Amino acid sequence: MHIPSRVIVREVSARDGLQSEKTLVSTAHKIELLNRIASAGFQRINAVSFVSPEAVPQMADSEAVMAGITRAPGVLYDASTANVKGARRAVAAGVDALSVFIAATETSNRKNVRRSIAESMAAVPAVVEVAAAAGIPVTGTIIGAFGCPYEGEVSDVQILSMASQYVEAGCSGFLLGDTTGVANPVQVERIVGKMLDAYPDRELYLHFHNTRGAGLANVVAAINAGATMFDASLAGIGGCPFIAGASGNIVTEDLVHMLHDMGIETGIDIDAVLDAAKFVSTLIPRPTASHLLVAGKRTKLLPA
Ligand code: ZN
Repeated sequence: MHIPSRVIVREVSARDGLQSEKTLVSTAHKIELLNRIASAGFQRINAVSFVSPEAVPQMADSEAVMAGITRAPGVLYDASTANVKGARRAVAAGVDALSVFIAATETSNRKNVRRSIAESMAAVPAVVEVAAAAGIPVTGTIIGAFGCPYEGEVSDVQILSMASQYVEAGCSGFLLGDTTGVANPVQVERIVGKMLDAYPDRELYLHFHNTRGAGLANVVAAINAGATMFDASLAGIGGCPFIAGASGNIVTEDLVHMLHDMGIETGIDIDAVLDAAKFVSTLIPRPTASHLLVAGKRTKLLPA
């Protein structure tokens, strides 16, 4: 298979992870979490989101979190936002990058934001304008890129069309999200191949959930197609929004450990990641999705 020399793992536990967990985490603990993530060597961190505090109480303190963290040099702290108001708050808080979200199907997008895909897309240039004035890039996220919980199949044509609309709106890169964990490796390799053929010079993040156990298999398929950027969450926090109790994001420590074993560099210290994963497990009390926290590193030998 194709093995890249380096892969970027974007740590999402502080934002995507916490956002979908019911247990409210204190500002101080979020700051400690983000500092631990940066110290472990992650260069991309999905840190906060600027959305309605009524809709997402967990993210109500994003300004205080950004103001409280120790900014590590070379680390890109990004924020998720839904509109211009959120973009202005994010820029004022000093984030390094923004991402906007649109679902791949009309039903899903209306459920999320009560707008059509076209209406959501029409709002993107204004967000890009706010970001561009501050000199920061905007990633266009396609939610449910590999399948929709309401409409089922999503065509490759739809993904490529949304990517082209994001480019037209001024986005610099993309994220394909599989929040409901329905992607399979054959589909992933095909879609990633098409995206990289169409946009070889733009960043492409893959965001997999392990809802049905295919998370790391999908990562390997995407790597084989040329992808080098993946989201993951410490201890796998951040559940599937549609299935109570289902496992969430792919697990950061499992992913980093696997990549290192494959001979792929990440710049990340696996022991620091394991410590951070244990810390996350104390913040979010639920059965861990982490294989590595249970089994330990492969190099840990048993007494003969
Ligand atoms: Zn996620």
